[in-house]
Amino acid sequence: MCGVVGYVGDRDCTDVLINALSKLEYRGYDSAGIAVFERNKIVVEKCQGKLKNLVTKLESEHKPLGHCGIGHTRWATHGEPSDINSHPHGNKRVTIVHNGIIENYRQLKDFLSNEGYSFESQTDTETVAKLLDYYYDGNPLDTITKVVTEIEGSYALGIIFRDFPDTIFAVRKDSPLIVGLGENENFIASDVPAILKYTKNYYLLEQDEIAIIKKDRVKVYDVHHNLLNKEVMVADWDINSAEKCGYEHFMLKEIHEQPTAITNTVSPRVFDGMPNLEECGITVDYLKGISRLFIVACGTAMHAGIVGKYVIEDLARVPVTVDMASEFIYRNPIIDSSDLVILISQSGETADTKSALKLAKQCGAKTLSIVNVVGSSIARESDMVIYTHAGPEISVASTKAYSVQLAIMYLIAFELSYAKEKISLDACKEYTSKLMDIPNLITETLEHKNICQKIASKIMNATSLLYIGRGLDYALSMEGSLKLKELSYIHSEAYASGELKHGTISLVDDEMPVIAVATQDRLFDKTISNIKEVKARGAKVILVCKESANVDDDIADYIIRIPATDNILMPMITTVPLQLIAYYTAVHRGNNVDQPRNLAKSVTVE
Ligand code: GLU
Repeated sequence: MCGVVGYVGDRDCTDVLINALSKLEYRGYDSAGIAVFERNKIVVEKCQGKLKNLVTKLESEHKPLGHCGIGHTRWATHGEPSDINSHPHGNKRVTIVHNGIIENYRQLKDFLSNEGYSFESQTDTETVAKLLDYYYDGNPLDTITKVVTEIEGSYALGIIFRDFPDTIFAVRKDSPLIVGLGENENFIASDVPAILKYTKNYYLLEQDEIAIIKKDRVKVYDVHHNLLNKEVMVADWDINSAEKCGYEHFMLKEIHEQPTAITNTVSPRVFDGMPNLEECGITVDYLKGISRLFIVACGTAMHAGIVGKYVIEDLARVPVTVDMASEFIYRNPIIDSSDLVILISQSGETADTKSALKLAKQCGAKTLSIVNVVGSSIARESDMVIYTHAGPEISVASTKAYSVQLAIMYLIAFELSYAKEKISLDACKEYTSKLMDIPNLITETLEHKNICQKIASKIMNATSLLYIGRGLDYALSMEGSLKLKELSYIHSEAYASGELKHGTISLVDDEMPVIAVATQDRLFDKTISNIKEVKARGAKVILVCKESANVDDDIADYIIRIPATDNILMPMITTVPLQLIAYYTAVHRGNNVDQPRNLAKSVTVE
């Protein structure tokens, strides 16, 4: 959510800032701006809308020329998206960009108003800029320290002071920020893709550490002004992972990257044909003692958790409760030190999930996070972490990150079932080997692009859709439906097909397409009966089933036959056509596929 960047070095600073911001566009934003030292004066350019508006403005009005500056893409929390509310904020003496929320900004604003400050914007951020100015005594480190002790909330701040035209200052709390380390040039950024073009080396700033960044050196201090010896991290993402590489959209590229992402995630956790999560701190002995599990997450990650619940309960016979993080934290959950709470988050910065982690720890539970971004807050703060290796996911709507979360759910389920002696060694090996074969089956499934494109052209004008299925098909449909909503802005709902007749079937008519998922052999005939019920009420039906399914062609208007594997693993394959249908529907409707309206990639506010 939103992006902070900064550059100091010999390159054209404005160009670097714009390029770096473009790599953070995926995070979602509504305005953009930069502040660059031009002949020792801070020059600010900013405007509402996409980065290209800012670029047009710079080209037609004024492009600051300099070698040190900060940039921002804003996702408005306080004050509407507008030119005035866009960052940077401040005055000629100190200027800042900010990601996060200042919770006590009202009190600070009152205080500063009494001290004679006036405010241009409605943002919480401007109070921080003015507070920095208020305390500024010629020593930025002292000034920043005073300010961070007074502000409450979350922040990643990039700060420049007029008196230090070759230096960027940075500090963060509860919002991510890294310092990129180049050769005779350095950077700040909210996330790694922003700096990949220039360097792979970076420092992760910890809570309330203050970084002083010049072109030839970076110093990081703790709150007591002790100089820290920071570990240099090396990004293992290559530059192509943040480029479209010939695909029309990042989403389509990421859908195609699923086979590789799954292999990268699963292979390092399989030894002698058995799942092995020991490097993540999970041993067979530990699993033996688990009596119940909680999975807490938001959105797509929660849907991965729901599939996990079905699989774990079915195979390991361990009860699993799945919660939306935003509900979990306020429902006073009954958990204690004997429970394992699993938190799933692509970014590892999701605010709701972070709060859930905090609560789980307060209750004394053991915590395990499943996270894609190495070194993110949730990964660092949980007792154990399993990293998914999806690489950077740029499209706001998640695809490959979901698949690898599913893959981890399966590894946990298989190892837990074995530890609990619910399945034999051979059965565990067999499931694991089938999981390792999923990438090949996904590659085959991707061949079904054309039918998905055609179906998309048939449903693109619908105002509402239903996804139906039973068991794992239902769990998987929830994600299919969310994908369609996110991208196409068409209302849709996933419904357990057996539940349909208890109310919701009253909505069904010839205007409401139904996507029926029937990949579970045991439930197949039941779902086919439900298809007949909706067809009898005029619905156009799209059926997703196994290649081998024995159905008449006229059972549905369109049938997508996908490669078959063990029933329990089918969601990993079924997700692909549902992603493609959502993708092509959005393309046909002319929507912004990679950055759907109102959405942000990593939701760092509650
Ligand atoms: N709260 C700040 C604002 O509304 C920053 C939002 C962001 O993280 O982009 O301006």
